[in-house]
Amino acid sequence: MSLTELARKKSPWVIHVGTGGCNGCDIELLACLAPRYDISRFGVMSTGNPKHADIMLVVGPVSLKYKEIIKNLYDQMPDPKVVIAVGTCASTGGIYQGCYGHCGSVDKVIPVDVYVPGCNVRPEAIIDGLVLALDILNEKERKLLSEKKGAA
Ligand code: SF4
Repeated sequence: MSLTELARKKSPWVIHVGTGGCNGCDIELLACLAPRYDISRFGVMSTGNPKHADIMLVVGPVSLKYKEIIKNLYDQMPDPKVVIAVGTCASTGGIYQGCYGHCGSVDKVIPVDVYVPGCNVRPEAIIDGLVLALDILNEKERKLLSEKKGAA
């Protein structure tokens, strides 16, 4: 395991993005960051800057007003990066499917790596999703490094 891989596994930086849901999943995600579930005890750092983030946690379906914003945030994240769709709305569009002001699930706008079901989603499920995301992140890192070696 490389030093970067080890460091990231011990301290992934996450950015929380709410794209227009009902706030139910947002509150559960905030519970993960607050003292009750406190994911920072596992080394997870919350950041508001996409340029520092390894993992994007997206809550809610993507509203039309948020479409360009989420694309922009995603593009600013350095590679490798992982996106987690948190909750049913983010994963499938949920109750907002076909709604005039929304484009539906997050994967209609940016690539999604992990889907965490639930309406509203439970903090334990979000933590499971994060653990899965770390493996995917490290897999992407390995692929990126071997591509760089191959190109050299
Ligand atoms: S999945 Fe349920 S709780 Fe979460 S944003 Fe959608 S409607 Fe709200």
